[in-house]
This record gives sequence, C-alpha cells and structure tokens, in this order.
Amino acid sequence: MINDRHLVPLKPVLFADRTCPVCGSGDLLAEGAVFPGVHVLGRYTCKACNYRFLHDLPVGFAVDHDVAIGLDDGRMHDAKDAEPWVTGPLMEGFKAPSDAEVRIERKVIRSCRRVVVLNTLDFLYGHVLLKLWNAQHYLDKHADLGLVLIMPRSFEWLVPKGTAEVWLVDQRLGQAHGWYRSIDRQVNAFLNDYDEVYLGKGYAHPDKARVDIERFTGVKPFALEEHGRAPRHVTYVLREDRLWFRTPVHKFLYRVAARLLPNRVAGAFFLSDQQRLAMRSLALLRKAYPDVTATIAGLGDKRSVPHGVEDLRTRAMSTDTELAWCKAYARSHFVIGVHGSNMLLPTALAGGCIEVLPHDRYRNLAQDVAHRWNDVMLLFQYRFVDEFASPRTVARHATSMYRDFAVYYRNNRVNVY
Ligand SMILES: [Zn+2]
Repeated sequence: MINDRHLVPLKPVLFADRTCPVCGSGDLLAEGAVFPGVHVLGRYTCKACNYRFLHDLPVGFAVDHDVAIGLDDGRMHDAKDAEPWVTGPLMEGFKAPSDAEVRIERKVIRSCRRVVVLNTLDFLYGHVLLKLWNAQHYLDKHADLGLVLIMPRSFEWLVPKGTAEVWLVDQRLGQAHGWYRSIDRQVNAFLNDYDEVYLGKGYAHPDKARVDIERFTGVKPFALEEHGRAPRHVTYVLREDRLWFRTPVHKFLYRVAARLLPNRVAGAFFLSDQQRLAMRSLALLRKAYPDVTATIAGLGDKRSVPHGVEDLRTRAMSTDTELAWCKAYARSHFVIGVHGSNMLLPTALAGGCIEVLPHDRYRNLAQDVAHRWNDVMLLFQYRFVDEFASPRTVARHATSMYRDFAVYYRNNRVNVY
C-alpha cells in the first residue's frame, strides 16, 4: 500500500498506528472500519489484554482529536482535548445507535479497483464544504486512485470533474450527528468492490488560496487582472440568523426579543435595520462611484432595494440558485457580509471581501474566508471590520478598495522581482 501521510490505509491493511487504551500495548488486531456518519472508526482488539475497542481514524475533526471507545464497557478514552461538540454527539450516538434507514445513492462515474474515500459528512454546512475542498489534492496528487466522495445530496452540484464515484447521502445536515447503522452497512458493502482503499484526510482548513473553485462550481472566479476593466459590482451576503447590528444596544435588544417573542416578530425590526445598514453603505460608496451595481444573496426573504441592486435572496435553494449566486460573486470586486460559513463560496469567487466580524468570533478569524491570494494582496483585498461597524466605515473600505487598487496592485504585483 502507499505510504503517504495524507492517506489513511483501510484495505487490505487497516491503519493500526494505535495503542490499547487500557494496557498501552501496540500489538493490536485491526478488524475493520465502522462508518456511523461523520466519524470513521477502526475496530481493534488488543492482543495483550483482549480489550475490544473502536478508535477514530485520523480523518476530519479526528485528525487531532481522536477518541477511543471500549466496545464492551462503553468507556471513552484519549479524548486529547477534543471539544464537547466533537465527542458529545459521538458518544451519544454510540450509546444509542439509530436504526433509521438512511438512503445512499451510489453513482459510479468511473469504475476503479483502487480508491481514496473522502468522507465529507458533517452537521455544519461550512465543515462539509471545507472537507470537500480536500478533493482537489487527491485528484491531482493521486490520479492513480479513484476518488470516492461521501457527501450530503445537497452538495452534489459541487462534485469536481475527475471524481470516480459519488455516494449521495439523503440526510439533512442537522441529522448528521448520530450513529447510523444503515450508513455503516451500506458503506462497508460498497467497500467490498475494491482491492485497495484509503481514506482522504478531510482537513478542516485546507489551504484555500490553492483551491481551484472553478473545478467545483464550474464558475470562473473574478480575475484581479480585470479589476480596472470589470464593471463595478459588489455582492452583499446577508443572512437572517446572524445579523449586522447598529450598536451593542441593538444586539442586546434583539437577544431579549428573541427570547420573548416568536422568531419572525423578534427579528423583523433588526432584519430591516441590517438591510438599512447595508444599503446605506452602498449609497455612501456610490457617492464616490455612482456606477456601482450590487447583488444581495442569502437565505431569506426579498426586500425592497434601491435601483441597480438585484435581490437574489430566497429560502428555496436549488442548483440554479446556487449557480446564480456564484455568478454574482464572480462578478464582484468584493463581497460584504457578516462572518460565517456563508462567506466561503462568496470569497472563493469574488476578488475580496469586507467582513463584519463579531467579537466572539475572533478565534474563528478567516476560517470562513476562502482567500485567493497568498501575497500582500491578501491585506488589501480582505478587510475585517468591527461587529458594530457603521455603514460609513464599511463604505470607506469599499471606496478605498476601488480607488487605491491600481497603485497597490502595481506596487506589489507588477514592480516586484
Ligand atoms: Zn490491552
């Protein structure tokens, strides 16, 4: 089998670089893999003390935070500082596995005997997307292995060219936490068809500057070289479940209202206010550049918008909607929005971003920004503003990103060795 730190061997020889969590022996019988959903675990028996256990294979969030579970005593071992959102659902699932039938549709595009399986299942949209972007590495570096993607059906439109098989899981993201015997049964049955199987790592933070987003979306991203010639366009990414607030008082009142009132009533004023903040920043940008057009994208209801603004917000997602949004991002010199996984595709396709970053998200800085440059253009094209930033602050950055681009680009991209 191939010895590569980004490939986890599964078949014919299962990864066994583990020790017994009870006696510490490294002499283990590796018996097979278990695929309950988000996690993939190896099943082992210690030859020294006969302890039987499962141990996370080092993929996805278990690359660093792997857990072992005793098969007979149900004990969790070796959590290695894993956060409760990783270990909690896993242990709950192990103790109460689901017998719900989860349909998996297997689409064979190219039949291969040697494969690398990339499990992108997760309960969060951004996590699925980030794991999926790992596909590019395996397509490019291991062309001799067929790439098999395990993914939620709603991500099928992002399958990159060259993928050998797609296993589409009919499950809402919110249900992905859990231990599904039917997923394990189906995946293990499919694996019988191969001579050699590896797992892809599914790192949570692949180097985004190297992601070729056109291979996933079919949409060519904004070209910085066209910055001066492209019609001035920006896209606002507005979500309804995390808002741009005018002041800390607004945020506080929203939280109080959300507790006391039904969601729609509580949110109504603050959603309107978010819209006012966004459109005010556009109006201020237009004082410098009256020709700027804009798109508004996001999960939510359409609202009245100024001239020159197209509102693509909807609650009914489809491939057509996804692609229409992607095309808008790709026409955008930059996108403007509140921090979150909603910024991943927009930043992967636009020239840059202005992101409203809530204080409690500093530790997640740029996890949601698929920055496309790895030189000093990064500092110019990706701006972060305070969570209570005024429309004027945002407009100042936006105006500078148009006005100062040519000189900055020339100094840092042209007149350099
Ligand atoms: Zn042992």
